[in-house]
Amino acid sequence: MPVAISKLAKKLGFTESEMKAQILSLGFEADDDIEDDVADLIIDELTGRNEKSASDIYEEMSEQEREREIVKTQRKKRAGKGDRSKRKSSELVGVNNISGVIEIPESISVKELAEKTGLSAAMLIGSLMKNGILANINQIIDFDTALIITDGQGFTLKKKRTEGSAKDIFLGNLEKLLSEDEKTDLKKRPPVVSIMGHVDHGKTTLLDAIRDANVVSTESGGITQHIGAYQVEKNGEKITFLDTPGHEAFTAMRARGARATDIAILVVAADDGVMPQTVEAINHAKEAGIPVIVAINKMDKPGANPDRVKAELAEHGLQPEDWSGDTIMVPVSALKKEGLDKLLETVLLVAEVLELKANPNRPAVGTVVESHLDPNLGPVATILINTGTMSVTDNIVVGKAFGRVKMLRDHTGKKLESIGPSDTAQLAGLSETVKSGQILQVVKDEKTARQRSVHIHDLFREEEMIKAGMGMQEILHRIKEGSLKLLKVILKADTNGSLEAIKQSLAKVKSDDVAIKVIHSGVGSITESDVMMAATSPGSLVIGFHTEANSQVRRMAERARVEVVTYNVIYEIIDDLTKLLSGMLEPEIVTTELGKFKVQKIFFTGKGEMVVGGKISDGVLRKGAHLRVLRDKVVIGIGELAGLKLVNEDVDELEKGQECGVRYKGKIKIEEHDVLEAWIQEKKMKTL
Ligand code: GDP
Repeated sequence: MPVAISKLAKKLGFTESEMKAQILSLGFEADDDIEDDVADLIIDELTGRNEKSASDIYEEMSEQEREREIVKTQRKKRAGKGDRSKRKSSELVGVNNISGVIEIPESISVKELAEKTGLSAAMLIGSLMKNGILANINQIIDFDTALIITDGQGFTLKKKRTEGSAKDIFLGNLEKLLSEDEKTDLKKRPPVVSIMGHVDHGKTTLLDAIRDANVVSTESGGITQHIGAYQVEKNGEKITFLDTPGHEAFTAMRARGARATDIAILVVAADDGVMPQTVEAINHAKEAGIPVIVAINKMDKPGANPDRVKAELAEHGLQPEDWSGDTIMVPVSALKKEGLDKLLETVLLVAEVLELKANPNRPAVGTVVESHLDPNLGPVATILINTGTMSVTDNIVVGKAFGRVKMLRDHTGKKLESIGPSDTAQLAGLSETVKSGQILQVVKDEKTARQRSVHIHDLFREEEMIKAGMGMQEILHRIKEGSLKLLKVILKADTNGSLEAIKQSLAKVKSDDVAIKVIHSGVGSITESDVMMAATSPGSLVIGFHTEANSQVRRMAERARVEVVTYNVIYEIIDDLTKLLSGMLEPEIVTTELGKFKVQKIFFTGKGEMVVGGKISDGVLRKGAHLRVLRDKVVIGIGELAGLKLVNEDVDELEKGQECGVRYKGKIKIEEHDVLEAWIQEKKMKTL
């Protein structure tokens, strides 16, 4: 049944011509009448109500409401008079009575945008339609879309900066904090470079050589110090170097979510070639998605053979530029300070391509590079500014530490008033030392700094729960639900031969849904670096063949929730992975006995809680373990090991022979001479 446009217009509070414009902008013919199903569609689009038919809505609108709608629209119309010239699509009913700058959040509903800008929701919906977006008034649109659909309306939209939440800062969610910046405010910033490579290939010598040769001149001319980062100037452009050679520091920062490095310089000795840590570094950079520039070092040595180095690097996926690849390789001698200019120019070249940007005009967000307790200055941290500007006297929060910037100085000891994006400096004024990789933020006043730090302090309790890696349970779960499509493997073996054999066998593990990718492989034992890599690469596990991880590495893997599995038979690896990929592995409960404790003294008896002293007679005691209480060799009850104290210090684990205090939680009252047996129960995968 046809519906008169005049009627529909009245119903929705438009004039007839405005209604026609709306209908046209929604892509329908606007004759005098339209079909009722089209009218329904139009009402849906313009009101956001889609569960009711046009007639329902009209019927439901009380006379009063209808009046109000009409008055509202007319009022808007009057306000918009004389402003029409500014409107791009003047046939639309956009009404703008606001000029200047309007702040809106990163995402906003059409309705809110209409309210904030004074434009009519219908006009915004029409504009969205024109841009191919079908929307109703409740639709949430992002800032960029809002910018496009309000273009030419005589005001400037600005993104409202929401200060990063305490949780974001705590979790090191730098991405979130950086995404607050408006694209139009972003300015070019210097690149931040990390130096990686095998031990003794010359990383430290290179870092020192670059610093000594290119230091931004200082009036103090003081002795340069290693503060964890420095900046040099080349052709009038700055480059920031993270002065902690090796990829361990780099990965440790990454594991905390820090995005500190833009470019990696991989140092390879020309007389030694690609070595295990070279490969590790390549894989780390690859996983982090960071471009690599190779410095072929020690070119002064008689045995230098750059072509061999290039060939070896090519085997590992770094194709030299002069062999039609895309990795620039610069021959240098760190010792003789040769080739450094070319190396720095290359860094600038790569940086140019990366188009690195940040907003200098906002409160700073930075990353902690290093931190220690200085006898004179108190807690000191070397920081790298990711975006914004930090000045002396600014209030800051880093993790649960807070403070006021008392001093900023560069690596030559020169005092600085303020530092901007990619700049680095040592900072004093924090309440305590902080960890490398932690995110730092400037806040508006001391009160906010304190409040934020208290909030973060609370969140710290959750830290133990924040595990970087994806344990086997999680991997299996994701495979089953189909959200994990790539299983990443870090493979360590006793010999190159076995590595190759396993890799070939892995290629044969077939699954329609999940692929296996060896993201790093090497000969030797499983190291902390392997675990780190797994922790920072979601959906990965570490596999060892005829090789092991020492207890320290195991503990670290446990903390980071990284699965480390070792095998002695290749067939079993293949078998297990096949089962894993098909989602066939089932968890089983594994009980592990830890140790025994002889109770010698009762220190405290509370409600369901006791503190007792004694000696570990066997194995280990671990905080959080289950406890059996034995009296005369008979189990009389169970409880939990809530805490361990060695003299006055709280510890997590103690071994046989140690005398200590045990905080026990349980119903059974312990007596002197009882024995406590500690055990843990874990859900483990059957075969892995
Ligand atoms: P890192 O372990 O990678 O930091 O290596 P170092 O910077 O400590 O250097 C290891 C050794 O190689 C030192 O004895 C350096 O003097 C030497 N070395 C570094 N660069 C060069 C170079 O360009 N030429 C020569 N001949 N020796 C170098």
